[in-house]
Amino acid sequence: TQLVTDIICPFCGTLCDDIEVEVSDDGKKIIKVTNACAIGAEKFLHAQSPDRIVRPRMKQEDGSWKEVTYDEAAKYTAKILCDAKKPLMYGWSSTSCEAQATGHMIAELVGGVVDNTATVCHGPSLIAVHDVGIPSCTLGEVKNRADRVIFWGCNPAHAHPRHMSRYSIFSRGYFTTKGSKSRKIIVVDPRPTDTASVADYHIQIQQGRDYELIDALRVALQEGPLPETVAGVPKEKIYDIARLLKSGRFVTIFFGMGVTHSLGKNHNIDIAIALTSDLNKYTKAAIIPMRGHYNVTGSGQVLGWQFGFPFCVDLSRGFARYNPGESSANDLLMRGEVDANFVIGSDPGSHFPFKSVKVINELPSVCIDPHMTPTVAVSKCHVPVALVGIEVGGSCYRMDNVPIESRKVVDPPAGMLTDGEFLELVLTEVQRIKGVA
Ligand code: SF4
Repeated sequence: TQLVTDIICPFCGTLCDDIEVEVSDDGKKIIKVTNACAIGAEKFLHAQSPDRIVRPRMKQEDGSWKEVTYDEAAKYTAKILCDAKKPLMYGWSSTSCEAQATGHMIAELVGGVVDNTATVCHGPSLIAVHDVGIPSCTLGEVKNRADRVIFWGCNPAHAHPRHMSRYSIFSRGYFTTKGSKSRKIIVVDPRPTDTASVADYHIQIQQGRDYELIDALRVALQEGPLPETVAGVPKEKIYDIARLLKSGRFVTIFFGMGVTHSLGKNHNIDIAIALTSDLNKYTKAAIIPMRGHYNVTGSGQVLGWQFGFPFCVDLSRGFARYNPGESSANDLLMRGEVDANFVIGSDPGSHFPFKSVKVINELPSVCIDPHMTPTVAVSKCHVPVALVGIEVGGSCYRMDNVPIESRKVVDPPAGMLTDGEFLELVLTEVQRIKGVA
């Protein structure tokens, strides 16, 4: 066997870059994965799954699948996108930046709407960043400097399992040589989570009252007056937390969907950013969203540098428009405003409301995914592809916007294309149909 080291894990936005994989001498089989958490290791090992689907398939009238070639699947994909007035091209978060860029070229030619999984995740954070900017930092700075860490509405113990040991709680850095003993950890969550169980303070906030509590913390920083309780938290505790934060050398606020998708949405993030700016009057402070899919940050970056907007990009008029709520994938599906559905690197069948999934089921549709997912089950064409970060490399962005190059570890199954290669086939066919070079 051979040992491949310094691999990145293509599962969550932490993008751990210290994974080691033992591979058979012929480079085809993964024997063992070390350093990854359980969910990361499972992603690598799934590449070996004996029931893996290795050829594109079209759904037949009776609901059964018929195997087709990649060329046939690319022709079908190009045709449904070109025939549609407003095709939805959704997902992108579990593929490389290079594949995203190719897909966006297709979207421009067919006048599609390009949206990524931020639409049901950190979209409100992106809107808030437009509104007020963001004082942020890298995870390396957190590891080396942060002595006050807040997890607000997120539970990395389950969603980003190695985040706490590599960067935010237990890791030992240049100025944090004693690991967790160098830091005070605060978890704000209505539930007693596993992350809360390792925190120094668990603030059990009333659900949906994030805005009020963040506002109260801003007041408490200035020792201003507060009512007896705010969001179910006694005022003494709020003053204590404010003093604790002010006394730190470097504060980092991590926040998740408990804040982005509760009452207030993007305004919760506006005020969390304002709190971070306020803290910078007393100490150094930064704020980082806990991004989920491993390259959802990259999707926002690529859309940003190509079209100027990080998600919900509507190209149907030949130029980029952006209006979350109007040009967001789920809203378009719910209102029946799209007439073809293209999914890559995501599973709306699992995450979208049933009404949207029913619409996907009715539309001409294609799903590009290495796995059999609920989205595949409601799509007309399924294109299995090599796993990015395991069977093909490519650029990805970590949750703190640091780009990292993922690497190929093993060969994909014989004859299987990467998503980049499949998208090139679709692009060529779209160019042929549209009569452009
Ligand atoms: Fe992979 Fe995330 Fe686990 Fe790191 S924490 S090994 S990136 S799933």
